[in-house]
Amino acid sequence: MAAAPSQAVPPSRPGRRLWRRLTLWVLLLVACLAVAAFAWRWAENAAIERLRLSGAQRLDGYALSLENLLAKYDFLPGTLELNKDVIALLQKPGDDALRGEVNEYLEKVNRLSKSTTIYIVNLQGVTQAASNWREPDSFVGDDVSFRPYVRDALRREPGGFYGVGTTRGEPGYFFAHGIYHNGRMLGVATVKVNIEKLEKGWVQGADKVLLTDAHGVVFLTSVPEWKYRTLAPLEPEVRRELEASRQYFSHALTPLGMRETGRTDGGAGIVTVSDAGPRLTMLSQSRSLAPRKWRFVYLSDLAPARASARNVFLFACLAQALLVMLVLYTRQRRRLGRQRLRAREDLQRAYDNLETMVAERTSSLQQMTHNLSEENIVRRKAEQKLRQAQSELVQAAKMAVLGQMSAGITHELNQPLTALRTMADNARVLIERDRLDEAKTNLATISQLVARMGLITGQLRQFARKADASPRAVPVAAAITAALFLVERRVERERVNFRMSMRGQDVHALCDSNRLEQVLVNLFTNALDAMAGSETRELTVAVERTDDRVMIGVADSGPGIPEDIRAHLFEPFFTTKPQGQGLGLGLAISEQIVREFGGVLRVEAGAGGGVSGGAKFIIELPLAEQETIDV
Ligand code: ADP
Repeated sequence: MAAAPSQAVPPSRPGRRLWRRLTLWVLLLVACLAVAAFAWRWAENAAIERLRLSGAQRLDGYALSLENLLAKYDFLPGTLELNKDVIALLQKPGDDALRGEVNEYLEKVNRLSKSTTIYIVNLQGVTQAASNWREPDSFVGDDVSFRPYVRDALRREPGGFYGVGTTRGEPGYFFAHGIYHNGRMLGVATVKVNIEKLEKGWVQGADKVLLTDAHGVVFLTSVPEWKYRTLAPLEPEVRRELEASRQYFSHALTPLGMRETGRTDGGAGIVTVSDAGPRLTMLSQSRSLAPRKWRFVYLSDLAPARASARNVFLFACLAQALLVMLVLYTRQRRRLGRQRLRAREDLQRAYDNLETMVAERTSSLQQMTHNLSEENIVRRKAEQKLRQAQSELVQAAKMAVLGQMSAGITHELNQPLTALRTMADNARVLIERDRLDEAKTNLATISQLVARMGLITGQLRQFARKADASPRAVPVAAAITAALFLVERRVERERVNFRMSMRGQDVHALCDSNRLEQVLVNLFTNALDAMAGSETRELTVAVERTDDRVMIGVADSGPGIPEDIRAHLFEPFFTTKPQGQGLGLGLAISEQIVREFGGVLRVEAGAGGGVSGGAKFIIELPLAEQETIDV
């Protein structure tokens, strides 16, 4: 059978939620980055625009100051032909006196106009007079016909030229103008002006200013290392021409390595200069100085603008992160608030439930308490009835013992009664026969017999009395004697050897004397019953005491108690005696009596507990404290 096509398991609900949340976060991150990037771009453009405007302003300022400076000297060469000596010297070049005159004149004009040098050249290009005539490297006699400004002037064109001096290598701007007399050119007047001092005012922070000639050779700049370098490599013929005119003396004119990498919206160029040192990226603005074919270039450093744009980007990121965090925080707070409200409601509900439960429980507890108190009353009544029944049972058992003893007691009383009747008859006969002494003796015996009978009945009455079971100090020896008195006749008749041992005579137990006698009579009777068929009949009572207990041991020389009977000894109605002789209540009631007084009735373990293998019972009772004993 073909396997069923496997079906794609749809993602679980929490999984879908997680995905959705993840996608949202990614989108939010992208949006934040886009905003930050936009801010970056905007800040960069704004900073560049500011740079451009300030650069343009500076550029205008610099160009104007240069133009002004040059304009000041434009007219000067033309005015020199107004001097007659100058004209005369050019007409008579050999007149040294005249030359001296002109030299001094030029020197004076040069000083007043603050130009560098002023000199007069003849049509062959040889200097006839110069303001620096006093100096050792004076221009006088120099051939400057190769200089372009001289050639231009000789061609009747106004000569304007920036170049490095061939004598001292000092740069300057050369103004040249033809000297005419009556419309005929006699020579050329030249004024050299130092414009290098302008450079000093151009240095503005990291910005750079360049002035280049028509070939792109930098001849004035705020960066000394860039001087006499070119913006682009020179064409070979240009280089040859420059070398011929010695415009830049012996400078190598190597390229600067400037490259335009882009343009701004405002039309400025972005250029990189990778000359020695770190690569610079700059905003380039230029302006041409038309009549001289020069170009002014103003380069603004882009690094601060870019750094501030970067800072704007970082700030935008930070601000957005803060905003997101604020939103999250507000949401979290709101959620927490809702949770707290829910928790408070739950708590209130639980509290209400608890109150209801407590009320219910309280009422059921009250009901239970009520029931309990009713039960208590019932129980107390039952206990009372039980105690009454127990007491009646004890009394009944006592009566049973008395019943058992009644035959012996009757015999005990019958004997003296018979003797009494005989002795009374005898006494009457003896009195009739006037045997008064014998009659007196008889009467004395009668009196003794009556006293003895009174003692017996007294003991019986005492035993039969209903006792209240409140414990008091009972002299143990007296209780044993009283109990023994009740069974004395049997002991004598059945020739039982009775022994009693007691350490100290005044041992008192905390119980009731009547009840203790009842227990003892019971144990004695059982012992006598057990020894009925025994050869030796010994009944031993031993009293011992510890710090707080009294132990009365009752041992006999009967057959002892077998193990199977021992287990049931204290059960009510357990008896091994023939019907009519035993009720099986003796030990059960005795045990209960002893327990009621805080004692224990127990049978000694093992077959040999008693005398010669008989039984031995021990009554253990609390010892009466000395202060409870009635003196
Ligand atoms: P009853 O004497 O009426 O039988 P008891 O409770 O006094 O009731 O005794 C229960 C049984 O315990 C007796 O029937 C007897 O078998 C046994 N018994 C009690 N004392 C002795 C004893 N000293 N020697 C042997 N057996 C005993």
